Amino acid sequence: MLGENSLAIHGGKPVRETSLPYGRQWIDNDDIQEVVNVLKSDFLTTGPIITKFEKGLAEYVNAKYAVAFSSGTAALHGACFAAGIKEGDEVITTPITFAASANSILYQGASPVFADIDENTYNIDPNRIKSLITNQTKAIIPVDFTGQPANLDEINSFARENNLIVIEDAAHALGAVYKNKKIGSISDMTMFSLHPVKNITSGEGGVITTNNKEYYEKLLDFRSHGITRNLSKLKNNHGPWYYEMQFLGYNYRLTDFQAALGFSQLQKIDEFIEKRQKYVEIYNEAFSKVSQIEMPFQSSECQSSWHLYVIKLKAELLNGTRKAVFEALQKENIGVNVHYIPVYYHPYYQGLGYKKGICPKAESLYENIITIPLFPAMSMKDVKDVIFAVNKVISHFSK
Ligand SMILES: *Cc1c(COP(=O)(O)O)cnc(C)c1O
Repeated sequence: MLGENSLAIHGGKPVRETSLPYGRQWIDNDDIQEVVNVLKSDFLTTGPIITKFEKGLAEYVNAKYAVAFSSGTAALHGACFAAGIKEGDEVITTPITFAASANSILYQGASPVFADIDENTYNIDPNRIKSLITNQTKAIIPVDFTGQPANLDEINSFARENNLIVIEDAAHALGAVYKNKKIGSISDMTMFSLHPVKNITSGEGGVITTNNKEYYEKLLDFRSHGITRNLSKLKNNHGPWYYEMQFLGYNYRLTDFQAALGFSQLQKIDEFIEKRQKYVEIYNEAFSKVSQIEMPFQSSECQSSWHLYVIKLKAELLNGTRKAVFEALQKENIGVNVHYIPVYYHPYYQGLGYKKGICPKAESLYENIITIPLFPAMSMKDVKDVIFAVNKVISHFSK
């Protein structure tokens, strides 16, 4: 039904004059000062602040070790290397993720195998994982989608029984809690991303946390060309200048000034999540009255870090398609997005031979989801604008 205020889509006034992004970083003056301090110091890269940041992050998630990388993607690559994933191996992951989760498997010459999702949580379905295991299966990469932890107990115990390694993609989930445990020490290795849209940022950056010393040492060498100076590991020793490259690594180092930003942001993570949580409650309250929308899953035993707020449209109650609703929200100047296009839909993956139809629940989810703005720097007015715009658009398209 069309009310007095015609929709922006029909040339009316949009709900907002300026556009609201779906996510945005929060940088304070003290964050900036920490970066400036490093720029004036002796070390611009791999200095004392990298170690300080790694220690701080490991402590925050209750893991023994943390290794910082130049991006979350580089960190995932490192984890796949440390896990010994190689050509001929299969690694099971979810299609509802950013391409990087699966790309990291390809970097090691192995094959991603996509397991369908659970239709309530949108996370990888442990039963689907079990049905896809073969003699080639080496590892599982579950993703804590939107910050909602995957079914980690079931995935990790299944992995232990079958000698598989679990690399948790927690790009969305810094600060999330799974059954009273912080995400970051539950799986063999856990990856966090520090991209500006994520819950804290270092510009670009990523971290692997682990309790396993062997993985830790491999990760350190992998991010710096496969070179070691560790005396106990050297095969030869020509003198005090000596170092050895023992395998093919990369330059995946984070700079010290990025680590300074990351460390400063880490002090604010709980505050950021509280703000996200507050807005989520307001969204939930508003959208519980909108029968055409399915709200995100909320677990009673886990605490999401609320990286994203994804609404699912009930197509049977709407006249418009997801595309029409999406475009109408854009015209209201609401920054919307879709997380995610199933990874194997991408032409590159299609070229590798993945067929549409392999994960029907993920594909059906993809048809109906829209991510609406959620970030700590939003104002209450921003939140109200989003709710007003969603109500306006949904009532326009409702049957
Ligand atoms: C952001 C993201 C990554 C990659 O992290 P970068 O730091 O951008 O390289 C991987 N997986 C998921 C689910 C992500 O959202």
